[in-house]
Amino acid sequence: MPTPRPPHCPCLSGNPYAECCGRFHSGEAFAPTAEALMRSRYAAFARGEAGYLLATWHPLTRPESLELDADVRWLRLDIERTVQGGLFDSEGVVEFTAYSRSGGVAAQQHEVSRFVRLDRRWVYLEAVQPG
Ligand SMILES: [Zn+2]
Repeated sequence: MPTPRPPHCPCLSGNPYAECCGRFHSGEAFAPTAEALMRSRYAAFARGEAGYLLATWHPLTRPESLELDADVRWLRLDIERTVQGGLFDSEGVVEFTAYSRSGGVAAQQHEVSRFVRLDRRWVYLEAVQPG
């Protein structure tokens, strides 16, 4: 019997989950860039990792708790634009579209997200208007 291939990461990087966003979800590593954090947060939505979503949310904007809808299937994430958010930046912007499906209904979410570095770790701050 061939060894089953490890599951690919839901962020569609093409890498196995354990070597991609799984390292961030487990706390083994921290997302080095705003885009990496965005991808890992999308993957957390896809895998129901509410704790990771809260942990990577800025304390000023973080909700008290987070209920993830188990009926939503996350299909694809397209990163459309990034501004700063690199290894040596303290702020960054990521524009993306996330595609999902719930009860046979397709949905897409287009958002421009702001990220800041807090204690050297990237966190999600807020959504801003595109443009
Ligand atoms: Zn990933």
